[in-house]
Amino acid sequence: MNTLEKINIGVVGVGHLGQYHVKHLSKISGANLIGVFDSNNKRNNSISKQYNTRIFDSLNSLIQSCDALSIVTPTQYHAEIAEQCIRSNKHVFIEKPITVSLSEADNILRLADNSGVIVQVGHIERLNPALLALDSYTLKPKYIEVQRLAPYTTRGTEVPVVLDLMIHDIDIVLALVKSQVDTIHASGLSIMTDSVDIANARIQFVDGTIANITSSRIAKDKVRKLKAFQNEMYVTIDFLLGLTEVYRVVKNKGPRGLAAVPLNENEGNKQIIYEKPPVNSFDPLRMELSNFIDSIKGKTKPIVSGSDGREALKVAIQIHEMIIKDLH
Ligand code: NAD
Repeated sequence: MNTLEKINIGVVGVGHLGQYHVKHLSKISGANLIGVFDSNNKRNNSISKQYNTRIFDSLNSLIQSCDALSIVTPTQYHAEIAEQCIRSNKHVFIEKPITVSLSEADNILRLADNSGVIVQVGHIERLNPALLALDSYTLKPKYIEVQRLAPYTTRGTEVPVVLDLMIHDIDIVLALVKSQVDTIHASGLSIMTDSVDIANARIQFVDGTIANITSSRIAKDKVRKLKAFQNEMYVTIDFLLGLTEVYRVVKNKGPRGLAAVPLNENEGNKQIIYEKPPVNSFDPLRMELSNFIDSIKGKTKPIVSGSDGREALKVAIQIHEMIIKDLH
């Protein structure tokens, strides 16, 4: 593909999140926003008016007019819509979670493999500027603690909290830990919905690393924090505030200056220093959609691939099944 050619793209599902896909895709220089399709005509009308884009009267007519589609419907429709797109040889960006079941995800990946199209998944936290601020550090965590709490809203409750919220952190943890999952312990509660609303999972990896993840959709305030401990380094990330902090042990005299503050006197030849790596300001959704467009053009690879989405789903389903076994 000519890298200067624009990618014709459409958005399927223009609800809460889909409207932002439309907003960004209407501005990304390598993309040509062709139009939208939503099963709710009110949404079609309001988004098409706001972004001056065409409404298609069927999914198929949108698919046939595009090179790629962004799928932002409720999760239970991802598999069916993605399959229809891929069978027409179109690239797909699928919001997270990739699908509801593992067999659906496998089917999507198999079809995409056969037709050579790109599948990217919207695990947006992987592009959170506060996480990317750690790119210049070598991360080899032995223990990770993550909390993701949110006030209750009905949006997203079509899937259990593990597939809605925890899956973001499962994806981050799987990207940070370069080892296979060994064992999982999990527990949870059902409070507002018929499904699991609060969950805790302790994931042990083959190399001994432990990740302890808590997610709740019944909280008063939003919290999205990660702490990772490794030999001679401790990092904290506040995904909401966009704040990243690093505590490192350095040998002999550590670096000085604003970026590195010594926290103690030298102990022998060791010193703990505190650093606040700069967190760039950019919109992660814009960045992941640009990454999708550039991947279609062959300039780069998806930061979160279809198989990453599948692996996060696999662990999420294991956790969820473990929780519901105990609930009943
Ligand atoms: P939403 O309910 O606000 O919007 C979904 C839209 O899809 C609605 O307008 C609905 O009419 C439309 N729709 C439903 N079925 C359809 C179909 N078969 N064909 C076409 N349109 C259809 O939901 P939302 O909050 O925007 O979530 C959408 C997806 O995005 C979900 O998979 C959710 O998990 C994901 N999401 C991801 C993040 C993230 O952080 N990456 C955040 C929120 C939501």
